[in-house]
Amino acid sequence: MDLHHTLAENVAAIQTRIERACLRAQRDPQEVTLIAVSKTVPAATVRAAYEIGLRNFGESYGQELRDKAADLADLTDLRWHFIGPLQKNKIKYVVGRCTLIHSVDSLELMDEIEKRAAQLTINQEVLIQLNLSREETKSGIGETDLEKILNGLAQYPHCRGVGLMTMPPFFDDPQQAAPFFARLHELKNSQVAIKREGVDLRHLSMGMSGDFEVAIEQGATLIRVGTAIFGGR
Ligand SMILES: *Cc1c(COP(=O)(O)O)cnc(C)c1O
Repeated sequence: MDLHHTLAENVAAIQTRIERACLRAQRDPQEVTLIAVSKTVPAATVRAAYEIGLRNFGESYGQELRDKAADLADLTDLRWHFIGPLQKNKIKYVVGRCTLIHSVDSLELMDEIEKRAAQLTINQEVLIQLNLSREETKSGIGETDLEKILNGLAQYPHCRGVGLMTMPPFFDDPQQAAPFFARLHELKNSQVAIKREGVDLRHLSMGMSGDFEVAIEQGATLIRVGTAIFGGR
C-alpha cells in the first residue's frame, strides 16, 4: 500500500484512540501532543509523515538526528524531540536542533547543555527523566533526586525545565503501567507549586504505542509513539 495512505490510516486510528482516552478522562484532546518516534525510520518516511500532517518527531540517537534534520531542513515548522539516553559527547548534535530534550538525568549533563545553548545564544527546554521502577537498564533519576535537580536548574540561564518524563517497565497489560504514570503526575503536582528560577513544570511526557491511552488517562501531555505509526523497527 502507498506510504502516505498507510501513515494517514495509522495516525487517524491513533487520533481516535487519543480522543476516546481524553473523553474518558474528561480532558481536552488539545492538551495532548502526539510525538511520532522516528528513530531508525528513513528521512523520506519522516517527510511523508510530515506531509500527512505530523509536526513533532522523536529521535534517540545524536548523529541520526543530525543527519535527518539536515535532510529535512526545508520543513521549517517540523519540531524534533530528543528522547534517547544522552551522552555528553552527543550534546552538540542535540542542543539547538530540538524543541525539547526529554531525557535529562543529571546536572553534569545540564552543564554541557547550558554551554552549548549559551554558544548558540538560544534557550533550550528540557524535561527531567525519572526511572520510577528503578530498573537497571533504564536511564533517569530516582524520585528522591528530583528536588535537587529542579533546584539546580536555576544555574542555567539558557535552559528551562518544563516537565517530567518517564518510561515504565513493559507490561503485556498496559493498565499495569498506570501506577507509574500516576506517580509521575503526583510528583509534578507536588513540585509545580514551588516557584523556581528556570523551572515551569507544564509537561508530562509519558506513554508509547502500547500504553499511551493509559498515560493520557493519567495526565500525559506528550505521548511518544513509534511502532503504531511507522510499524515495527
Ligand atoms: C522508541 C521509544 C518510544 C516509542 O516506542 P514505541 O513502542 O515504538 O511506540 C518512546 N519513547 C522512548 C524513550 C523510546 O526510546
